[in-house]
Amino acid sequence: MSIDLHIHSTASDGTLTPLEILSLAHRIGLAAIAITDHDTLAGSRQLLESPALGPIRAISGVEISASPPPICPQRGSFHVLGYGIAFDYFPLNRILERLQNARQERNPKIIQRLNALGFTMNMAEVIELAGGTDGLGRPHIARLMKHKGYVENIDEAFECYLGHGKPAYVDKFRVPCHEAMALIRDAGGIPVLAHPGVTLDPAIDLDRLLTDLVPMGLGGIEVYYPDHNTAQTARYAAAARRYGLLMTGGSDFHGSLKPEIQLGTGTGDLVVPDALFTTLTETLSAHRTRVPGPHG
Ligand SMILES: [Zn+2]
Ligand SMILES: [Zn+2]
Repeated sequence: MSIDLHIHSTASDGTLTPLEILSLAHRIGLAAIAITDHDTLAGSRQLLESPALGPIRAISGVEISASPPPICPQRGSFHVLGYGIAFDYFPLNRILERLQNARQERNPKIIQRLNALGFTMNMAEVIELAGGTDGLGRPHIARLMKHKGYVENIDEAFECYLGHGKPAYVDKFRVPCHEAMALIRDAGGIPVLAHPGVTLDPAIDLDRLLTDLVPMGLGGIEVYYPDHNTAQTARYAAAARRYGLLMTGGSDFHGSLKPEIQLGTGTGDLVVPDALFTTLTETLSAHRTRVPGPHG
């Protein structure tokens, strides 16, 4: 049996609702899932409160847009996943709300820049195509660009206009990564370094990075991920063992926004062993004093 611990719903930039994700997970036979929306717990909460979980085990999740630690040369986002967090921990919710607001303020600025570059677009069109304002971000703007024929696909929109350092890029508020990890810990959860193969500059010294991050509270590495090749998966798994970190994995499913990525299997050959889920939940319950346990 396999699991998927990295999933986006309509609460951020995915295109399926938490309940649609759940029924898809049932259909393909996943043993456990976590919805990890960008900077919001809404999708994860809806999943865990669903009476339709059935045999599927689920755990609360979030993906926080943090700023990289000083040792990382890159700018842009440093994604930190959090698992097993309490939904009602106020300091975490307050920072997630601030991140959401920053996202809302950022979108109109991006649209302004695109208009200055000669494209004709407005926020109402972005919202209409997205079907609402929940979790609106650059992927939705990219979708409108594709819809209007300004780009061939979402990747081109990011590579030419919306990505870091490109002409329509607008910087955004991010939580310092030590603060994101501390908030996840304080909310009863475990912070996990998301998709290191994507986030980290290939030149970075992984041991130096982990030597910095572990004392900050890092508890796991996302070892299994569609963009990780066999060598990367082995390298991150070995690092997790060296530092006593949990291993997690998931598809980073976004529905039709990233049509090449399937729930559970990623680009086709992703298999995240369900034993990882057992270890994760056991570690959480060993640490936990006041947070409700995961379902299942
Ligand atoms: Zn991410
Ligand atoms: Zn993600």
